[in-house]
Amino acid sequence: MKNSLGDLALLGGEPEFDDPIYVGRPTNINREDLFRRLGLALDRQWLTNDGPLCRALEERIADLVSVKHCVAVSSGTVGLQLVIRALGLTGEIIMPSMTFIATAHAARWLGLDPRFCDIDPVTRQIDPDLIGVLVTPRTSAVLGVHLWGRVCDTDRIGAVSETHGLPVFYDAAHAIGCTRSGRPAGGAGAAEVFSLHATKVVGAFEGGAVTTNDDGLAELLRGLRTFGGGGSSPWGGTNAKMSEASAAMGLCSLDVLKKSVEDNQSNLDAYRTYLADIPGLLPPPDLPGEAGNHQYAVVEVFAEETGVDRDLLRQVLLAENIVAKPYFSPPCHLHAPYVAQRPVRLPHTEALAARTLALPTGSAVGTREVRRICSVIRLALSRGRALAERHRSAVSNHRKGPRP
Ligand SMILES: *Cc1c(COP(=O)(O)O)cnc(C)c1O
Repeated sequence: MKNSLGDLALLGGEPEFDDPIYVGRPTNINREDLFRRLGLALDRQWLTNDGPLCRALEERIADLVSVKHCVAVSSGTVGLQLVIRALGLTGEIIMPSMTFIATAHAARWLGLDPRFCDIDPVTRQIDPDLIGVLVTPRTSAVLGVHLWGRVCDTDRIGAVSETHGLPVFYDAAHAIGCTRSGRPAGGAGAAEVFSLHATKVVGAFEGGAVTTNDDGLAELLRGLRTFGGGGSSPWGGTNAKMSEASAAMGLCSLDVLKKSVEDNQSNLDAYRTYLADIPGLLPPPDLPGEAGNHQYAVVEVFAEETGVDRDLLRQVLLAENIVAKPYFSPPCHLHAPYVAQRPVRLPHTEALAARTLALPTGSAVGTREVRRICSVIRLALSRGRALAERHRSAVSNHRKGPRP
């Protein structure tokens, strides 16, 4: 247990962990089940192209999120792009900036122009009241994001979009198994897009799943996924199919979803307990009626309270082999190419992005690790001003170099 600032690895102490602890680790899938499913695919010699495992995965996800259709694809990013093509979008698309860069790049890659919307400082989600002012004659859609798995206000976003005659769809990359007011993510707007990337709570090595209640849209998406499927899309089609190997992994990951969520929940509870009395350090509050998969344990570091800002705390943790991630910093509108093309100020997004840190969780981390991580955080923040001072002078001595 570390007691004084000198025990921190950043200031010369021994690292708390011998091996790095990461934010997102694959869930505890059952290997036997994975190998059995892979064996089935090999026996059938049906390795991709809408295979039985892919269809089984689609059925399981459609069931889980109570939506009529699920179209499995090769990644969440490509899933977003299929929806963009299926809806025939061009021109501008309104989306939050507080999201993973893939949300914006998916649209840009197809020649669309993202217009970034600020967040509501209370919910941390895209602010429905700010969507209207971003609408121009070139706007073709609204793309909402369920940030960190908390389902955004699809009712209000849907209402604003309808007022302006715009279709709306959702980046639900973080949100499989998450509900808001008892409704699971997956059924709002024209379509919702889940990511099944290896780091997400349900993983298929690489993969994604588009869910929709619209029969026509589902049909179109299936066609676009398979080189156009002989359909009549002006865009032709692409190859966005999910392989049987990915589907096998996805099914195994779904098999343990309940356990993964329980593990995340117990980690989050432990973070809340061990960090409860730290001034300024807040996990975002739960909304009533909300259920999450808690795949991200995000805290917010308020430098005014403790003297330590997010970047210094991150360095402290990194030195201890605790690989915390500044999700999502910088936010999309400050990334190339967007910042050069159309500089905008999004004060709430910028403030949030500067203070958020995703701490390690997932089934590879347990409450014992969480307690040790929290003890480092508590030490750093309880002597925050002294830590910042010692770090500053260490850095400036380093810059000056040894005396001649
Ligand atoms: C992971 C992620 C994506 C991209 O999903 P991939 O399956 O990796 O392509 C898109 N949006 C958000 C918010 C994500 O976190």
